[in-house]
Amino acid sequence: MEMIDILYKKRNGQALTKEEIDYFVQGYNEERIPDYQMSALLMAIYFKGMSKSETVHLTNSIINSGDTIDLSMIEGLKVDKHSTGGVGDKTTIALGALVAANEVPVAKLSGRGLGHTGGTIDKLESIPGFSADLSIQKFADQVNKIKFSLGGQTKDLAPADKKLYALRDVTATIDNIALIASSVMSKKLASGADRIILDVKTGSGAFMKDIDQAFILGKAMVDIGNDVEKDTIAIVTDMEQPLGNTIGNGIEVREAIELLKGKGPEDLLELCRYLGSYMLLLAEKVSDLKEGMVKIQEVIDNGKALEVFKTFVESQGGDIKFIDQPELLHETKGIYEYQSTKNGYIHQLDAELIGKCALTLGAGRLNKSTKIDHQVGLELQRKIGDYVNVGDNIVKIYYNDKSKLDDAINFFDKALKISEESKEARKIIHGVVTKDGEKRLS
Ligand code: URA
Repeated sequence: MEMIDILYKKRNGQALTKEEIDYFVQGYNEERIPDYQMSALLMAIYFKGMSKSETVHLTNSIINSGDTIDLSMIEGLKVDKHSTGGVGDKTTIALGALVAANEVPVAKLSGRGLGHTGGTIDKLESIPGFSADLSIQKFADQVNKIKFSLGGQTKDLAPADKKLYALRDVTATIDNIALIASSVMSKKLASGADRIILDVKTGSGAFMKDIDQAFILGKAMVDIGNDVEKDTIAIVTDMEQPLGNTIGNGIEVREAIELLKGKGPEDLLELCRYLGSYMLLLAEKVSDLKEGMVKIQEVIDNGKALEVFKTFVESQGGDIKFIDQPELLHETKGIYEYQSTKNGYIHQLDAELIGKCALTLGAGRLNKSTKIDHQVGLELQRKIGDYVNVGDNIVKIYYNDKSKLDDAINFFDKALKISEESKEARKIIHGVVTKDGEKRLS
């Protein structure tokens, strides 16, 4: 088999066989295929797409490039949750505790952030002492004991995905359905979960800007999960503006803790109730969605979720003083209050540009070696649909390095649009995709 023949075939829009897909995935992983040929193939896939069976083969081939994790030593049905990436997305942090407090094991392997979207581990590392560097045995023991553990993805899990993702990132081939679906699902399936729930983001801050494309991506991933008999559900949710009110690391952990204390923002709470309820349903803990929502709210109201979160942080070395006083997680040298220069309704809070604003302050990394500033970030005072007068505060910008502030403000200027015409608040849940089809809710 020759790579050039595979290139001709895909360039001409033909489907690749399982053997051809294995050939280029393993070949690239083992550095036998050069970047220039792999780049050409990625671009051909980007334009010509992949069929359902090609996407399943690609997923399996990526899984086979490395180790798979056996979580059978963890008791009970393990439901994994994954988000396709957004701005202000601290859902996993709160959701883990909400689901674990309902006695469903949460064995979560997470990644770090790159670009304008943040990673859960980076966020949790803003708690002094917290570490996600656990052996599989310790990870499993902790889930058996307290139902919640969060580890880092090891380098041996789906290694071909890491190489392919890095190449896609610099060849403008990230936002392709087959490539995203196989990348996400290979990691989920290699991580050993029994059931999978996917939060597919759509809007300005998401890879899938278009809602119809987000549903197609959801279906592609649900098909892959069900093909290997792992019940998979995708929820399509809004990423037109940041989720909740905070963007950064420590500041997002603070908001997740506030949610567990019953003081979270409405959109984040609705999303956690919805995803949490589906997780309880997939774990066969409840018989319908409504019962799940009640159970999720119950563990907020009776303080059980907060207790689980404290035990989880303590077990992974974190200082729980910061849970009692989460405002300590984002103490910065200065706070800039960005005020409205117009009267009117907020029409746009572009999530990607706000992500870049946080990145400029130091909250994210432009490349793997960047050191994150865990304290800096943004706190929105208003969301899309709110009315503001001249001089009203729209966002607080927490900064440490004053020389970065002007650039951050410039990003926010571009992200914000105010108009006299009224504007509806955005809905957070757009719909659900299951093996039985899709249901649109917005
Ligand atoms: N998240 C992933 O893990 N892979 C993609 O390709 C896109 C989002």
